[in-house]
Amino acid sequence: MKRTLPVRVEPLPGEALESWLAALATRMNATWGEVLDAVLPTGANGIAGSHRGAVLTTGVSDAERESISVATGVCGGDIDGMTLAGHYGSPLITIDSRTGRARTPWGLLYRQRFCPLCMRAFPGRRKLEWFLPWISTCTEHRCFLADTCPRCAQVQMVSDWFNRWMYTHPDRCRRMVKAEPRPTRCLARLSTSRCDRLRPGHPVLTMQQRLTELLAEDVVDVGVYRTAPVSVAQLLTDVQVLGNRILRAPNIAGLITILGRRASDREITRWLNTAPIPDQTRSKNPAAPGATRLGLAQPAAWVGSGVAAALTVLMQPSLEEAGTTLRTATSSALTRELRYRTNISRPAHSAAVTAVDIQARAAGSTVLNELRYRTITELPRLPDTPRFASKHAMLDAVPTLFWAEWAFRLDTEDLPWGTARQVLSRLILTIGCVMVTWELERRLHSTVRAQRVGLAANNLRAHPNWEGIFTALLRLHEYLQANPPPIDYQRRRSLNYDNLLPEAHWVDLVAEQGVGTTATTATAARLWLIEQLSGAPVPNTEQPLPCRGVCTDRMRRTLTPQLVKKLNTVAVDFLRAHGVVDEPPTWEPPLTLLEGLTLPGTPPEAIDPNVIHELVVSGLGVPAIARHLDTSVWKVRHQLEHHPIPSHVARTRSTRPVRGPLSVVAGL
Ligand SMILES: [Zn+2]
Ligand SMILES: [Zn+2]
Repeated sequence: MKRTLPVRVEPLPGEALESWLAALATRMNATWGEVLDAVLPTGANGIAGSHRGAVLTTGVSDAERESISVATGVCGGDIDGMTLAGHYGSPLITIDSRTGRARTPWGLLYRQRFCPLCMRAFPGRRKLEWFLPWISTCTEHRCFLADTCPRCAQVQMVSDWFNRWMYTHPDRCRRMVKAEPRPTRCLARLSTSRCDRLRPGHPVLTMQQRLTELLAEDVVDVGVYRTAPVSVAQLLTDVQVLGNRILRAPNIAGLITILGRRASDREITRWLNTAPIPDQTRSKNPAAPGATRLGLAQPAAWVGSGVAAALTVLMQPSLEEAGTTLRTATSSALTRELRYRTNISRPAHSAAVTAVDIQARAAGSTVLNELRYRTITELPRLPDTPRFASKHAMLDAVPTLFWAEWAFRLDTEDLPWGTARQVLSRLILTIGCVMVTWELERRLHSTVRAQRVGLAANNLRAHPNWEGIFTALLRLHEYLQANPPPIDYQRRRSLNYDNLLPEAHWVDLVAEQGVGTTATTATAARLWLIEQLSGAPVPNTEQPLPCRGVCTDRMRRTLTPQLVKKLNTVAVDFLRAHGVVDEPPTWEPPLTLLEGLTLPGTPPEAIDPNVIHELVVSGLGVPAIARHLDTSVWKVRHQLEHHPIPSHVARTRSTRPVRGPLSVVAGL
């Protein structure tokens, strides 16, 4: 049974266990080993098991707690309160099973800072929180903690804390310094360290206090974490990653501003004096994994500034504000182009930090980048991995010409219809896309170049309904990912349409309806059907058709419900002949996805097809009908294709001279 020690030393509030035991040793005029033997469980030889540095302060076993409690009269709970594991516990502190040392989300603990003023008030008494790498100030004395010994300039390590056979001198520097004939202990008084005071309410002090409060919770659900709460360990990782990013290329004036001070010249000078920018020339590659240890290795003033800046960003009420704040605090680093997620093993920050980072870079970025990184969503994110740079799963799901029904609703009528549809398809394919542009254009058989798409996209952003358009595209993107369409559009684009609807076939089909047609109408019908099936524009090169629009409109006016049905059979047969057996000829995504959105366009269904039919019968051409109805020709065309003129109505139409190089009158 352990004997109770003859002397008593009360632990100070917040004191570390080994600091208190060292104070006991000083009081008893005993060596460190003698105190350990007196308070810890001992073997038959009366000697306590070996205790390497900082292991006791990390955490005690049940037997050790019991033994220390009996020897000192301090209750077990108070003893636990003096250890890192007992006071903070998981997930802030985990015990490294190999060394028994404490690990935090910022890495293995290896140093301790100290407050010179606390050391002056209570010589040698060290606080538990000085072990925590993110603690950089003494809130009691409103000063930065000291990093190094005032004489030898070495950091105070947590290992090699005391040797068994030595008197403890906890108020002195324990590091070895060069001397003849052999190295000796430095033994400088730590309380004589220079002390950098901070004004009351200094942001570094308030933000450290805020961090401590947040770390006392189970989850963090404030600031940018409102939509996706994180653990306190994740918060610490985020603070470290973001702090490092800010400190790697700080904009000092901006940094001072975001911390709520006025960036006067005097303030900037004072800042640079208190927190000199760490020398980064030693680290050739600032993105190297070593650089992420900045937080642990840098001077307290720097860590304090980094923590304060990072937390200021993370506690902003919205991602936009957080992005703006981050942009203000940093300078050149943000010009680095955003890339996809990297797989380098370094502290993985949360999705919220990625989102803030993207937001910070998004200002002034193009619409295409806004789409690529989804910056108006609740959580902007990076495209998955470079693996997908050569693949693009969405290419199978999206036609080159955006679905007409959708395009009518999203279209602002600022571009030619075919261009507008291609632009919309390009925009939806840009979401989360890392494929290079020329590759994308090649696969799409696109006739609209990237520069045009970019310009058109910027104009769209200026439209009052941009948010509706953007949201529609995001919803559709998400829908298509979850529900792949019944058509493989990439296959459709690459089919050979040479044998689709030869002229004679069209002539026969039309003849069955009891009307005449022309060769140019036949060509127009063929090109039109290819476009329907391939989902891509059919360039007017192979079969030049000088009056393609007029001819295609003539084809549309020729359509009857029976003819449309026949053309559908032609399409199905063609697809089957090319091994496409289970796909409908055409498809449109459900329009219900657009519910609740304010969109610029109106649906073509708003135009009564019967009215169009009457106007056709009266002899008007499509452009004239569109003018008459004050709508776009494409809506009239769409209605004619989907609500063709019933045969009995068609037969009553006034005969108009058929113009064209060749008249093929059949059937009559
Ligand atoms: Zn202090
Ligand atoms: Zn020293």
